[in-house]
Amino acid sequence: MTPDYEALIALAKECGFDCAAPLYTKDLKFRPEVRDMCAVNTCGRYNASWSCPPACGTLEELSARAAGYTEGILVQTVGQLEDSFDWEGIQDAAARQRDSFMKMWDLLEEQYPGLMPMGMGSCTLCEKCSYPDAPCRFPKRMTSSMEACGLVVSEVCSRCGVPYNHGPNTIAYTGCFLLV
Ligand code: SF4
Repeated sequence: MTPDYEALIALAKECGFDCAAPLYTKDLKFRPEVRDMCAVNTCGRYNASWSCPPACGTLEELSARAAGYTEGILVQTVGQLEDSFDWEGIQDAAARQRDSFMKMWDLLEEQYPGLMPMGMGSCTLCEKCSYPDAPCRFPKRMTSSMEACGLVVSEVCSRCGVPYNHGPNTIAYTGCFLLV
């Protein structure tokens, strides 16, 4: 059944997101080149977290999982920065995205217990990830990023009609939930 997007977008706003929009799985392109960029390891998280490649699953596995859904919602936090060096503002927006994402995940799970979350960045739930020596400590709360799943975030935003770039001195963080 098609989700009630008016209610979902209102819920996203209550959770603290600045933007939210319907997302259709048919528009998601899982790209090997995005995973190749992960393997370059600019962020230092490749092969260092259960939430990141290669541990988070192959591109084929993740796209097959997503193919089990038809619709979901895109959620985004937009931070206003004093200037492009406003590190505090960047960190604040990232923290808001993480908090809002967890809040919304909890609320959505009541209605969509089988949802597929895709967040932003590597999992930060533990100070030090247990990978690879021990199993993930919170497998039900850990989420991989949209990029780790092979998605180009700007492309997904564009498909959903949500700006990826909100103009000078802003930063946007994006995630999504596949619901049905
Ligand atoms: S919950 Fe902890 S162990 Fe699991 S991926 Fe996140 S940081 Fe690693």
